[in-house]
Amino acid sequence: MPLPKAELHLHIEGTLEPELAFELAARNGVTLPYASTEELRRAYLFTDLQSFLDLYYGLMAVLRTEQDFADLADAYLARAAEQGVRHAEIFFDPQAHMARGVSMETVVGGLSRALATSEERFGISTLLIMCFLRDQSAESAMETLKAAEPYLNRITGVGLDSAEVGHPPAKFREVYEEAGRLGLRKVAHAGEEGPPAYITEALDVLKVERIDHGLTAMRDPAVVERLVRDQIPLTLCPLSNVRLRAIDILEEHPLREMMAAGLLCTVNSDDPSYFGGYVGDTFHAVQEALGLDHEALRTLARNSFRASFLEDDEERRARYLAEVEAYTFD
Ligand SMILES: [Zn+2]
Repeated sequence: MPLPKAELHLHIEGTLEPELAFELAARNGVTLPYASTEELRRAYLFTDLQSFLDLYYGLMAVLRTEQDFADLADAYLARAAEQGVRHAEIFFDPQAHMARGVSMETVVGGLSRALATSEERFGISTLLIMCFLRDQSAESAMETLKAAEPYLNRITGVGLDSAEVGHPPAKFREVYEEAGRLGLRKVAHAGEEGPPAYITEALDVLKVERIDHGLTAMRDPAVVERLVRDQIPLTLCPLSNVRLRAIDILEEHPLREMMAAGLLCTVNSDDPSYFGGYVGDTFHAVQEALGLDHEALRTLARNSFRASFLEDDEERRARYLAEVEAYTFD
């Protein structure tokens, strides 16, 4: 039995495996520029951010109907369950779908239909977080939030993702203020490739409760001190950092140093079908590469539940934490 854990940094579009991509392409009459799942699988071995983004956005063309989004979520949940995930807070990128004529209703409808019964079917409680693409305009983000208003009973929070450098958090001040007025929780990608100042800005200007990535915090002791003092959770994605070349090799990932500094670190998969592993695989990979002992892994699992948005369900959080404490490693 794998270590129980929550996954807090997971883009549902990044869980599209080649087999499902071909299945959905056939169902929707979409022609993919790959002859076979094997050829597509080889394309997943991209070498830089741009080739990843080209593939990532290109493959989304197969996602057309509510059923497609429900099937995508189900495929993730089935894999996550095998990897010990007990709770998942799942990102989606509505702008990437609306730009190709797929409505908010279709996207949220399909995802939330799958998530509504995730606990009965997969033993995983779920929340949905809507991300804005930071390389698009602040106006577009605001329009997206407006389009989501009829569905906010199914959306817990907002996030900010895609290409970071040159798109500082402050660009989205107004839309985050509006999200706050609507009662949404707030997170943002910051300090993945961008400077530590983006982390501070996300906290001060966007009032986020969690930092997605936060890898570059280690470049600024004052930022580390603040994150430690306020116990702001970081949703680190070590395999993603290697594949997108934020670091060269996993052995050089600063996770150990970050934990030793007192940062509230969690480990997540980001876009698992593209980055070489789901969250349980990621735990194994960092354990091996960084020599983490069982107690460090238990700390990461504990942190994942501490950092999750379960405030209105403390009984559930306590139950998950008890599972972590009771876990025996083999
Ligand atoms: Zn991400």
